[in-house]
Amino acid sequence: MAQIIDGKAIAQSIHSEIAKDVSDLITNHAQVPGLAVVIVGERKDSQVYVRMKRKACAEVGIKSIDIDLPGDASEKMVLETVLNLNANPQVHGILVQLPLPSHINEERILTAISMEKDVDGFHPLNIGKLAMKGREPMFVPCTPKGCIELLQRSGISVSGKRAVVVGRSNIVGLPVALLLIKLDATVSIVHTRTPDPKNIIREADIIIAAAGQANMIKADWIKPGAAVIDVGTNAVDDPSRKSGYRLVGDVAFEEAKSVAGWISPVPGGVGPMTIAMLLRNTVDSAKRACVEMWC
Ligand code: NDP
Repeated sequence: MAQIIDGKAIAQSIHSEIAKDVSDLITNHAQVPGLAVVIVGERKDSQVYVRMKRKACAEVGIKSIDIDLPGDASEKMVLETVLNLNANPQVHGILVQLPLPSHINEERILTAISMEKDVDGFHPLNIGKLAMKGREPMFVPCTPKGCIELLQRSGISVSGKRAVVVGRSNIVGLPVALLLIKLDATVSIVHTRTPDPKNIIREADIIIAAAGQANMIKADWIKPGAAVIDVGTNAVDDPSRKSGYRLVGDVAFEEAKSVAGWISPVPGGVGPMTIAMLLRNTVDSAKRACVEMWC
C-alpha cells in the first residue's frame, strides 16, 4: 500500500515556517511582505482562487494588496496597473490571476511584471534561467515548486531517478520537468502526441501527472513502488454531492495506491502546496528587497 502524501499537512507546516519568517521581517527589519493580487473580470473559478490566496496571505501576516479590475478593462489599464505595482516598494510580489479576458494579451502583461516581483515565476526570463545550466531563476512557478517540495519533504530522492511528466504546459508540465532535470533526474515528457504513453509512464520511479484528464493513469501504468504526484484537478459528475460534482486527479487513486510507493491525493495533495509556494516566494522576495536596501 502506498504512503499517502498529505499535501494539506505539509502545506500547513510550511505556512507556520512562513508566519515565523514574516514575524522576523517585521520585528527585525520593519518590513511587511506585500503581495498584489490582480484579478480582471468576474470568472467564478478565478474569484475563488483569488479569495483563497488573499485569505492565505492574511493568515501568515503578508499584506495583500487587492486590485479588482472590471472584465472590460483595457490592456493599457492592466499594463499601467502592473507598472505602478512594479514601482511600489511595499509590493514584493505581483500575481495576475489567469486566464485574462481574451482581449488582453497575456504574454504582454506577464512580461511587464518586474522579474524581482514575479512570484508566479511565469516571466520568460525566469523560465529561461530555470532551463539553463548554472543559472538560477529569481522565482520558480508555484505548482511545480510545490510538487518538488512534496517529494523532498516525503524523503523521496530525485537524483539519478527516472521521472515522467505527463503534460508540457508553461505553468506546470514544462517547469516541473526543468526542475527535475536540475535535480539530476532523467526526465521524459508525455503529451497528446506521445505514442504508447502507458509503457513510458511504467518506466518511471517518479510520475508527475499534469494532463487534466480524469483518472487517466491506471494501476497497471505504474511501476510498483513509484512515487506519484497528481497535479490534475478534474471535476466529474457526482449526483450524491450537493454540488453535483467532485474533484478527481489524473491518476485512478483507489487502484493506484495499491501499486505506488507514495501517492498524493486530489484534493489535498498539490493544491494546498501551490498557495504555500506563492507565500514562500513572496516572503523570499521581501527578504531579498531587505538585503538590497540594507534594512
Ligand atoms: P493544460 O491543459 O495547459 O496542459 C495539459 C497538458 O497535458 C498538455 O501538455 C497536453 O498535451 C497534455 N495532455 C492532455 N491530455 C493528455 C493525454 N491524454 N495524454 C498525454 N498528455 C495529455 O493544463 P495545465 O498544465 O494548466 O494543468 C494540468 C492539470 O493540472 C489540470 O487538471 C489543472 O486543473 C491542474 N492544475 C492544478 C493546479 C494545482 O494547484 N493543484 C495548478 C495548475 C493546474 P499537448 O501539449 O500535446 O496538448
